[in-house]
Amino acid sequence: MALEIYNTLTRRKEKFEPLHPGFVGIYVCGPTVYDHPHIGHAKSYVSFDVVVRFLRYLGYKVRYVQNITDVGHLLETGEDRVLKKAKIERLEPMEVVEKYTRSYFEDMDALNVQRPDISPRASGHIPEQIELVKTLLEKGFAYEVNGSVYFEVAKFPEYGKLSGRKVEELIEGYRIDPSPDKKHPADFALWKRAEPEHIMRWPSPWGWGYPGWHTECSVMSTKYLGQPFDIHGGGMDNIFPHHECEIAQSEAAYGIPFVRYWMHNNMVTVEGVKMSKSLGNAIYLKELFKRYSPMTVRFFILTSHYRSPLDFSDEALSAAERGLERLWNTVKEVRERIPFSDTGPIPQDVADVLASRKARFLAAMEDDFNTPLAIGELFELSREVNTWLASDRPLSKEALMAIDGLYTELGDTILGIIPKKFPEEVRGELEVPLIQLLIELRQEFRKAQDWEKADRIRARLRELGIILEDTPQGTRWRRARV
Ligand SMILES: [Zn+2]
Repeated sequence: MALEIYNTLTRRKEKFEPLHPGFVGIYVCGPTVYDHPHIGHAKSYVSFDVVVRFLRYLGYKVRYVQNITDVGHLLETGEDRVLKKAKIERLEPMEVVEKYTRSYFEDMDALNVQRPDISPRASGHIPEQIELVKTLLEKGFAYEVNGSVYFEVAKFPEYGKLSGRKVEELIEGYRIDPSPDKKHPADFALWKRAEPEHIMRWPSPWGWGYPGWHTECSVMSTKYLGQPFDIHGGGMDNIFPHHECEIAQSEAAYGIPFVRYWMHNNMVTVEGVKMSKSLGNAIYLKELFKRYSPMTVRFFILTSHYRSPLDFSDEALSAAERGLERLWNTVKEVRERIPFSDTGPIPQDVADVLASRKARFLAAMEDDFNTPLAIGELFELSREVNTWLASDRPLSKEALMAIDGLYTELGDTILGIIPKKFPEEVRGELEVPLIQLLIELRQEFRKAQDWEKADRIRARLRELGIILEDTPQGTRWRRARV
């Protein structure tokens, strides 16, 4: 089996073949930094984080570019999102940008999302955007009116090939920017004229102004990845108009294809209702992290496929929390046993199960990054591991290390949901040996038939959330909650 990716452009799964063997260039539309990130951002960037992790796991050298939109992303009222926020918060626009860029990376770090290799900012690429607009004017795909420049959709017959929309259908109900300057309502702004009171503006051959939102992604993707490049990702809500416009600009300007594989993640619903800021049901990550650990949120996102909608509810999050706890408990027990086990060969049946679970996990990932199926394989693996741990046959140190190694390879390197060190291990290195000491003391009391003291240790540990279990192999312990 080889990696297959669903390509929005061709509407089918295709075998993935990068343009340059061994190298993958990927661009994902990043956040507009005028507010704190919400669960919709988490769905998109966790999904693409796993895409990038898996490509690297397969041996590709990946260059991951994800932009920061700090200018030009307009509201339906025509106001710039960053500028509007700057007025409300009485900040310089670049203070707004800095504040929410930091907030974005803070939350993504908590979600164990690896940072992009390049995070270019739109405002740092104004000359390149002006060059693109000039090229489109020279080639006759754009026209200037009163200091603004528009792309003429009628000149690019392939407009609509990504979204499947026809230009004729776009005339009706076209709400954004119904400027009287445009020749056709579907034409979109490449450059907008700015009045003197507009703070974020730059000089251009057409006077002072600022770039249209779509321009930055065409320019910054190809500046760092070339044209064409391998994968362009984003949310489904970006297919139209944003990505359609990117294709039109880049292909019209250079006469060659723009992107080879278009990947789009689905949206988040809240108890069945589309999540949107205007509906007031947006769930901000900083609020959510007060109730659920970021790892629970990450795990929850990956239990649904990136092309499926993710329905948020407290019930679903709580179920994810319990599921992750079950998975972690098995891994913890394996790791806790390693220092106390004897060396010896890996039994054939154990080696066989590990090999077959790994193969099935990788096959799921190669099938358009099917994370729910892959996670299912981790649970199947845990079911078998738990049976071995509960049996009378002691597992050798080598066998336990092979099991731990597989959890790390699949659950940490690829999915990022099984940490090398669990939160409590990071919290206090003393805790584990102290629990071990109490278990030893309790054993001595039991041997001396001092049941009262032995029971007291067990009861006090229980109060602290540590559960002791007596087994034929000795006393084991686990935590009541993650
Ligand atoms: Zn974009």
